[in-house]
Amino acid sequence: MHRFAFLLAFWPAPLLADAPRVITDIAPIHSLAALVMGDLGTADLLLPPGADAHDFALRPSDAERLGDADLVIWVGPELTPWLADPIATLAPQATQLPLTASANWTPLTTHDGEIDPHGWLDPMIASGWVSDIATALAAADSENKAVYMANADKTVTMLTALNDDIQSRLRGLDQSGFIVPHDAYSYFESMNDLEHTASIADAHAHAPGPGHLSEMRDLVVSNDIVCVFSDAEIGARWVDVVIEGTDARTSVLNGTGAGFDAGPDLYEAMLRQMADAFAQCLGD
Ligand SMILES: [Zn+2]
Repeated sequence: MHRFAFLLAFWPAPLLADAPRVITDIAPIHSLAALVMGDLGTADLLLPPGADAHDFALRPSDAERLGDADLVIWVGPELTPWLADPIATLAPQATQLPLTASANWTPLTTHDGEIDPHGWLDPMIASGWVSDIATALAAADSENKAVYMANADKTVTMLTALNDDIQSRLRGLDQSGFIVPHDAYSYFESMNDLEHTASIADAHAHAPGPGHLSEMRDLVVSNDIVCVFSDAEIGARWVDVVIEGTDARTSVLNGTGAGFDAGPDLYEAMLRQMADAFAQCLGD
């Protein structure tokens, strides 16, 4: 490489304006924000990929990172009620974008009648949230508005294709009974015309009681349950108890990006992996 070309390759590109300092809650939302920000900046991420959003303790360094933010993009208090106070007290300077408050989606309700916050697991809901993210970024950084809007358009095209791919992959899957680890997958199920028979834990992933576990076990033994999924929030131990000595299969659902590098590619890879998990566990 010529010395001049070498210099050009490593010379930082001049920025028109500083992109806002963005912090996000979970890895899939971080991935969507990264797609919209493109080369303009890098969003920060509070919970590493695969972390349990329902049960997480902020470290002092996380508090510092919140204090640096101009824009906090998070699913909302329905997913992480423990995060509402820290955002208000540690990031009073920041604009908040709680995605559950978006006008661009229709929430489902949990078995307890609350808003089910796990909406990012449907690419078309993610698509609506991408519009909200682009609008918030453009409001914070109007000079780069056209770039955010163009990146959002590209992302919506990707998400629409992803949605179609997953639907055609899972179409016609045997609608036998299956059990989900916690009540988090209704958006993904609903886009694919699937419906779980039961859930080991509730939408907040609270540990199941012994009575509920034995009900789950009775269901597997006496009904046509072909698959009992586990996930990072519940882990395999409850699932092992439920399926022990039966023919039920098991597979891992990963809704928070466990095992993937945080960044723009995480969202699509995670959703394709989830489609694989359903196809393998419910397929012939
Ligand atoms: Zn959850």
